[in-house]
Amino acid sequence: MSRSTEPFAVPALDLKAQYRAIRDEIDPVIRAVIESQFFILGPEVSGLEAEVAEYCGVAHGVGCASGSDALLLSLMALGVGPGVEVITTPYTFFATAGSIWRTGARPVFVDIEPETYNIDSARIEDAITPWTKVIIPVHLFGQAAEMDPIMEVARAHGLTVLEDAAQAIGASYQGRRTGGLGHLSAFSFYPSKNLGGFGDAGMVTTDDEALARSVARLRVHGMEPKYYHHEVGFNSRLDALQAAVLRVKLRHLESWTMRRREAADRYRLLFREAGLVDDLVTLPVERPGNFHVYNQFVIRVPAPSRDRLRAHLAACRVGIEIYYPIPLHLQACFAPLGHKPGDFPHSEAAARETLALPMYPELTEEAQRYVVSSVGEFLRQQPRSSSGSGRAA
Ligand SMILES: *Cc1c(COP(=O)(O)O)cnc(C)c1O
Repeated sequence: MSRSTEPFAVPALDLKAQYRAIRDEIDPVIRAVIESQFFILGPEVSGLEAEVAEYCGVAHGVGCASGSDALLLSLMALGVGPGVEVITTPYTFFATAGSIWRTGARPVFVDIEPETYNIDSARIEDAITPWTKVIIPVHLFGQAAEMDPIMEVARAHGLTVLEDAAQAIGASYQGRRTGGLGHLSAFSFYPSKNLGGFGDAGMVTTDDEALARSVARLRVHGMEPKYYHHEVGFNSRLDALQAAVLRVKLRHLESWTMRRREAADRYRLLFREAGLVDDLVTLPVERPGNFHVYNQFVIRVPAPSRDRLRAHLAACRVGIEIYYPIPLHLQACFAPLGHKPGDFPHSEAAARETLALPMYPELTEEAQRYVVSSVGEFLRQQPRSSSGSGRAA
């Protein structure tokens, strides 16, 4: 996150504040793992698997080395490989499409809904071919994709749905948690995610026992029992230190989620109080029926203001990030797919216009006031867009 050593007035993310608050719980469990000298898989990992599965309301959790591997292992367990197409969004972290590519399958992109930045469920059917096998909706920034229509179209065409829930642990859709909405799901416990380890970690959750067993085998080179290999997997084991840390943090997840939501509400209030309304800046939309967990609080300003706002906030020492500056269909490595600018206009516009403000449970009101007044300072100097509400300047 903060690669620079320069201190921020408000950082994009403050993991030290989180650690300070739970140090007394974390340090002893790390010590206990060290004393046990049991570092790979084992009881801490199976404990975390059971707890995350229960949290998501599914029967099985299979820990692995990262969220990227959780996606790759899931696709391998589903038999995705050369000749197969997998539908997903081009506006996501690279791993979503990278994992598809790594199996030898072809990522097929479907544009996003501009309000939620999630895959547009109404456009999925048009992208289905006889080679389509899987749909990967991403619950971007902490808000679930429109899962009912996605499951409906999957059912109609006999497809499997793999949730990329890396940014959305604890989020729900129509009262049901992510991780239990599709056929299987991939979580990341990268440190900046809402439930983050002290390093890389990930998990696959599913109700399907055969898929869970397959993922569990693939993460240990396809081995079962020891030294008998029926298929070729790879090494994606989860280590006990990460699991022990994550089990402590999972107990705090609900309260951290509530604090993220309070911070999001407070941003909305502060923007409103500052008179920074919709013709100047677009705030995140929480769909009815969705419980957003705000891994990111992403605002939107018209191009070319975004890049100037970014520079202004850097000068104010406000930590921000651009998720994501280049949509995946325009990444150099995916040139063989033959896409060009204009293919997915909503994703391309989002890549030009969005910016993530500081967001973490410990974010104070004072810090948020500073962030909003810094944004306001910049926006008030901008010419109003002609499509605005027509207020007198
Ligand atoms: C973080 C993330 C991943 C990958 O997780 P890692 O643990 O970093 O490998 C995949 N998809 C999305 C949407 C993510 O945000």
